[in-house]
Amino acid sequence: MKSNTMVYNPYSQATFLKSAAKVEQLPEDTGFEVAFAGRSNAGKSSALNCLTGIRQLARISKTPGRTQLINLFTVGDETRRLVDLPGYGYAKVPMQVKLDWQKNLAHYLDVRKSLRGLVLLMDIRHPLKELDQMMVNWAFDRELPVHILLTKADKLSRGQAQSTVLLVRKHYELMHDLLTVQSFSSLKKQGVDALIDVMNRWFEL
Ligand code: GDP
Repeated sequence: MKSNTMVYNPYSQATFLKSAAKVEQLPEDTGFEVAFAGRSNAGKSSALNCLTGIRQLARISKTPGRTQLINLFTVGDETRRLVDLPGYGYAKVPMQVKLDWQKNLAHYLDVRKSLRGLVLLMDIRHPLKELDQMMVNWAFDRELPVHILLTKADKLSRGQAQSTVLLVRKHYELMHDLLTVQSFSSLKKQGVDALIDVMNRWFEL
């Protein structure tokens, strides 16, 4: 259902801060971070575009050579950072590179104190793949809240989309304190306000 109130969107102010190949190269671990992750092609760049309204933002993350990096964007000032984690699961990547990425992602999720929440994107037609579940488990290992964004919801009927939301919720029923789920469509700009609400809570905005 569309809300009538306009939600203030602080993410329209996001600007590129830096890229990092390793956790050690990230900015000082203070303030707040909210990370976006998902399989490659899950719709992460489109969702970031949709959220920030800044086309250039996701283009930075898609620049050849930057797709394997952690890309950081500031929201307001440098104490609040939006973190675009490298997409995982791309079939054509050699196994060793995949394993290195996984180690890097797990390490980031494990040690980053400023990290307040993980937005995990999954194509609504193919949710809960093995690597997605691994990401959720890594986050739960440190009691980090996870917000699952079921993307490309416009590809399904409303009813089908809603039953996938319920299915994913049910899968993590016992962890409901840490996990929220919503459907999202960058194409139709659906679900943006709900996403902003969750992020504002994590960023304490
Ligand atoms: P990323 O690899 O996770 O950054 O994914 P992209 O944002 O590049 O999207 C991958 C593909 O899915 C592209 O062809 C997009 O046009 C398409 N896509 C992304 N979001 C949506 C959406 O909300 N609806 C539809 N129908 N297609 C989408």
